[in-house]
Amino acid sequence: MTKNQVGCQTIGCRVVSCRHNENGSYCALTRIDVEPCCNGCHSGNPEDESLCGSYSQR
Ligand code: SF4
Repeated sequence: MTKNQVGCQTIGCRVVSCRHNENGSYCALTRIDVEPCCNGCHSGNPEDESLCGSYSQR
């Protein structure tokens, strides 16, 4: 990704409990932060390695 593409992505998301979710299909934010679930997991399982750090409960 080039620097001038920052903020130009469409983020698909089905997390309906998040206040930023629209229609159960995408994220309304212009950017999100993706974070590791825990430091040093390295299990390789997606659910262990990555989560949306911009989640906010409705
Ligand atoms: S902030 Fe994260 S969890 Fe919430 S709608 Fe956007 S991508 Fe989904």
